[in-house]
Amino acid sequence: MPAMNTLELRAASTAELRIAAPAGVRHLYIHIPFCHRRCAYCDFNTYANMDDRMEAYVDALCRELAGLRTPADLPPRALTRPAETSSAALLRADLRPTIFLGGGTPSMLPLPLIERVLAAADALISLTGAEVTVEANPGTVLGREYLRDLRGLGVNRLSMGVQSLHDPTLRVLGRIHTAAEARASYADAMRAGFENINLDFIFGLPGQHIQQWEATLREITTWEAAHFSLYSLILEESTPLYAQVVGGRVSVPDDDVTGEMYERAIELLGAAGYTQYEISNWARADHLEPPPQAAVGSRLALPVRACHHNLAYWLNADYLAAGAGAHGHIFPQRYADVLGIDDYISKVRAGQAPIAEITELSKRDLYAETMLMGLRLNIGVSYAHFRDRCGAELAEVYASELQELTALGLLDCDTLGVRLTERGRLLGNQVFERFV
Ligand code: SF4
Repeated sequence: MPAMNTLELRAASTAELRIAAPAGVRHLYIHIPFCHRRCAYCDFNTYANMDDRMEAYVDALCRELAGLRTPADLPPRALTRPAETSSAALLRADLRPTIFLGGGTPSMLPLPLIERVLAAADALISLTGAEVTVEANPGTVLGREYLRDLRGLGVNRLSMGVQSLHDPTLRVLGRIHTAAEARASYADAMRAGFENINLDFIFGLPGQHIQQWEATLREITTWEAAHFSLYSLILEESTPLYAQVVGGRVSVPDDDVTGEMYERAIELLGAAGYTQYEISNWARADHLEPPPQAAVGSRLALPVRACHHNLAYWLNADYLAAGAGAHGHIFPQRYADVLGIDDYISKVRAGQAPIAEITELSKRDLYAETMLMGLRLNIGVSYAHFRDRCGAELAEVYASELQELTALGLLDCDTLGVRLTERGRLLGNQVFERFV
């Protein structure tokens, strides 16, 4: 039997699914693709008016998760897993195991279905001691009792998509909740015993101005949430909002105003005691735990309320994924499940792996992925981490890019590694495209 250290995908020899979880994978993403209706800006793999498939979908999901435990032979690999010893790798080893139910709107699932999904996940990654997150839409959270029972099932982190506290904006976005409902859902979640709550907001929204965004920031910093994710609006071409903006029916703030909003967020959240640890993420700083041993004396201490699941992505950990359109990454491969709900259900029912594609990372992919993920973090990418993961020297592979971006004031390089400057965080996409 070969060493079980990579994702195993092979042709069917039995009616079993054929994805074998490698020993030691500690992170699992589960996609729940149902929404009440599609928001005007959303291009995620999510579907409205398909609630009648929930039961069949969860059946399929549980079978896919069970299949992840099925051993299989290893196909050949072009890249071999490096022995990583950098402090980033050690920090990654210190992450809690994680299970993340994202979507879509997982909080649309009735509790018995969530219970079944979690039981199937528990057989792969024990819920005990894990960070277990469920994404929730304030318009679907069914009150304190639902939230209390969710907590009772072992869910210990809630991620709520609030997006705005301005009702006219919420309507333009097509959200199904009001600002008052978002405030009430958050208060219910706190009373239900959730101490670790993330709140998602978007800035650069249609009709939004600086004073309005500032008022939102001032209000939410009094809520004492453990974590905030603040994203600048991205207009995706396939969305109704894009067509409205291009057609001149809706206007959005220009880049300068959006940049100023981001700076105000950094300033006000910092003043309120939040630590920014990633381009779009802040965690309450009064929960700092002693840094892991690997980080002592370095910049690698992270707030304890940082999202461990997302840290697994940014620190290039392996993670499994299940559900329609879900993406997994087991070095040196990525894989994606089929997108459609019905396609997903029928493939699993037929005993086939619901995989749409598997990509083997080339050396160039690996370099780019290491930079694109790692630079999102304020700690950046250390030379040692790049060397361990890629078997090459960062300063040699990207010599001209580092020189150019440093001269532009977007990147800061020292003897340990590279990281975005504050201006670089503001213009992150311009930096990232230089590494692809
Ligand atoms: S609730 Fe979230 S996943 Fe669903 S359509 Fe809106 S933005 Fe997309």
